[in-house]
Amino acid sequence: MHRKLLITICAALLLAALAAAALPRQPKLVAITFDDGPHREFTPLVAEALNERGAKGTFFMVGSWVGQKEELVRQLAADGHQIANHSWEHANFTDMTAEDIRADVERSRARLEEVTGQRDFLVRTPFGVRTEAALEAIDSPLILWSQDPAEGQLVSGPEMAAKVIRNIHDGDIILLHDSTQDNLDAACLIIDALQKKGYEFVTVDELFAARGVTPEKGVIYKSLPPR
Ligand SMILES: [Zn+2]
Repeated sequence: MHRKLLITICAALLLAALAAAALPRQPKLVAITFDDGPHREFTPLVAEALNERGAKGTFFMVGSWVGQKEELVRQLAADGHQIANHSWEHANFTDMTAEDIRADVERSRARLEEVTGQRDFLVRTPFGVRTEAALEAIDSPLILWSQDPAEGQLVSGPEMAAKVIRNIHDGDIILLHDSTQDNLDAACLIIDALQKKGYEFVTVDELFAARGVTPEKGVIYKSLPPR
């Protein structure tokens, strides 16, 4: 009797394993994002690090900081990275009216359009502000994050990387900045470690598409876990 039960259990386990193996493997996806660029020194280094590793990133840029770095922005887009909008001059939207926020974000959008020829950009507010006025004013999905290894502090690259690698989930959006050596170090360590664990680095738009989600205006997105 026991033997029969054991055989039945083994057969069931075998069938389950075969069924799992037959399913197409969904790659684990992660979006790595960089705020506060473009930076003359570090944006090209971050881009090089991503390109060498076959990773795609999303760059939330401050419109008024583009300045003479137009070619750099165009090259990022040409390399398959995503350009996104991080306001005109990194103002804190907390106490601003919807009208002022709308004008600020639009001014940055227009500048990014002028440089890239693209029209629509995902938005991330400076400091991740998400007041009612901001949500009302911003004519775009609001992209925040699920992994913030520095939380506004000065943290070394290896420490930031260790925190992300320890806590990562499929579909996470990682917040880094393309403006310091620590962030560059963290990006390299994170990508190398997570690629070894089977993660693919895609843009935020690619993450939406892979998850079959159409981003909506006025909605906050922090991650896009598998359905
Ligand atoms: Zn910022």
